[in-house]
Amino acid sequence: MTRSFAEYLSSTLDAVREDSGGEVHAVPSALAEADPDRLGVALCTTEGEIFDSGDSEHEMTIQSVAKAFVYALVLDEYGVEEVMERVDVEPSGEAFDVLSVEPETKRPRNPMINAGALVVHGMVGGPSSSWEDRDRLVLEGLSRLAGRELSLDEQAAEEELAAAHRNLAIAHMLRGEGVMEDDPRDVVQGYIRQCSVLVTTCDLAVMAATLATGGRQPVTGERVLSVASSRQALSVMTTCGMYDSAGDWMSEIGIPAKSGVSGVLVGAIPGRFGLATYSPRLDRHGTSTRGRAVFERMSRELDLHLLTDP
Ligand code: GLN
Repeated sequence: MTRSFAEYLSSTLDAVREDSGGEVHAVPSALAEADPDRLGVALCTTEGEIFDSGDSEHEMTIQSVAKAFVYALVLDEYGVEEVMERVDVEPSGEAFDVLSVEPETKRPRNPMINAGALVVHGMVGGPSSSWEDRDRLVLEGLSRLAGRELSLDEQAAEEELAAAHRNLAIAHMLRGEGVMEDDPRDVVQGYIRQCSVLVTTCDLAVMAATLATGGRQPVTGERVLSVASSRQALSVMTTCGMYDSAGDWMSEIGIPAKSGVSGVLVGAIPGRFGLATYSPRLDRHGTSTRGRAVFERMSRELDLHLLTDP
């Protein structure tokens, strides 16, 4: 059984391997210089059993996939209502780095676009947390979700920070609108360091499986998140995780998911498993092209669409 499922994963990678569509992300150089042919998949069940194939142990930066997990950690810290007062949960239908807030409340539209993720990052550790506190707590929280001590790609963080004009513009806009009290430069720096945490595809599958169990890390057995926080994070992944392709993703693939510009993709099938892929070439929405193809195949072949009667 184990062997045959590993073979299934390997044949799924073979089926998408020749697709060379899309482009690698330009900044930082760790992304621009990533081997575009790398391809990995991993799945972790809610019992903590892991199946993987391809480059599943290769480390890369987590990028925007961290947004979903840091949102869940902040929900755990503050409760759903208080977080909702600062960041809404409406799909924006816009790219991840758009400069916009809701006209009336000035809240970012959701925590998966950069505006929302910056506010969420600033909330880590409570209102008086320092830059260093947030940095440490994010790394600790992501490590508990992965079940091992994670580290950062310091050089990638520095390079991205040096070119972070757009994220700085978003943070200054948020501060100007009065929805963020912290120093915009501190928040952008912390957020970029959060994007620069190094993970493997196997780590991501385990982290996603923690959402699929309702917050219990399936390998260590630790309760990392409450059921309510996990459900809220999954809900927002379902509606907003894929930015301006969220509707198309939901109708075709039907799995709560989050993409990152390093080419990582995670999805969680509640009560069943976490799924992750890695392949660096991206489509125009910032989603891994072959990662998407793997999710599409597996959703169809294993009946994973949330709205399918199994
Ligand atoms: N670090 C990237 C940014 O903030 C992450 C974007 C992404 O993965 N979609 O621009």
